[in-house]
Amino acid sequence: MALRKSTLKQYRDKRDFAQSAEPDGTEAVAASGKRRFVVQKHAATTLHYDFRLEVDGVFRSWAVAKGPSLNPADKRLAIEVEDHPLAYGDFEGTIAEGQYGAGTVQIWDRGYWSPQETGDPAAALRKGELKFTLDGTKLRGDWVLVRMERSAQGGKRPGWLLIKHRDAHAAAEGDAILAEDRSAASGRKMEMIAAGRGRNPKPFMRAKPADAPDAPATKPPRKRSPT
Ligand code: MN
Repeated sequence: MALRKSTLKQYRDKRDFAQSAEPDGTEAVAASGKRRFVVQKHAATTLHYDFRLEVDGVFRSWAVAKGPSLNPADKRLAIEVEDHPLAYGDFEGTIAEGQYGAGTVQIWDRGYWSPQETGDPAAALRKGELKFTLDGTKLRGDWVLVRMERSAQGGKRPGWLLIKHRDAHAAAEGDAILAEDRSAASGRKMEMIAAGRGRNPKPFMRAKPADAPDAPATKPPRKRSPT
């Protein structure tokens, strides 16, 4: 499995793990027969939703300012951000003031995803279009991520569009789902997480899935640049 170490370095370089409770990427993560995804609701400087798909041992990640919409007519801007370690899928809590991404993080949704087309999803992402199916607690059915033309992009980071396909899980009231402010991992609302109240999130990345009872835990090699 090709681990995109170079981009996990970006993740680590942005953070000080002595100050932030976020995983540093050396945590053991259970192998899974299925690809996992997580959507984290993140009340940072501005509220956004971090959309993460497991690809080749890391979470490929996009920041979706308006959140995913169930209406196929909505094209939601998804800014590609640095890859995150798989252990991040279990992170729910607060990032301390002064740290990168300071604010509250809720595991808004999680589950499994699968590519709709045969072939390497990493190659599909390189080409700029990935059609996939989500099997989460809130998000389900068919979706596409399509990279915008460079000319249409204002910022430095690649802009993509996250679009729901027409199927039984589509809805005209595309944003209604965003009103569901309950963690898929702990049942907590944002304000409870911010206050440090309620139960801890139930692990997903570290839990062995029922369909892979003997899967060995994998731990990526520790690679941290000296600071
Ligand atoms: Mn974020």
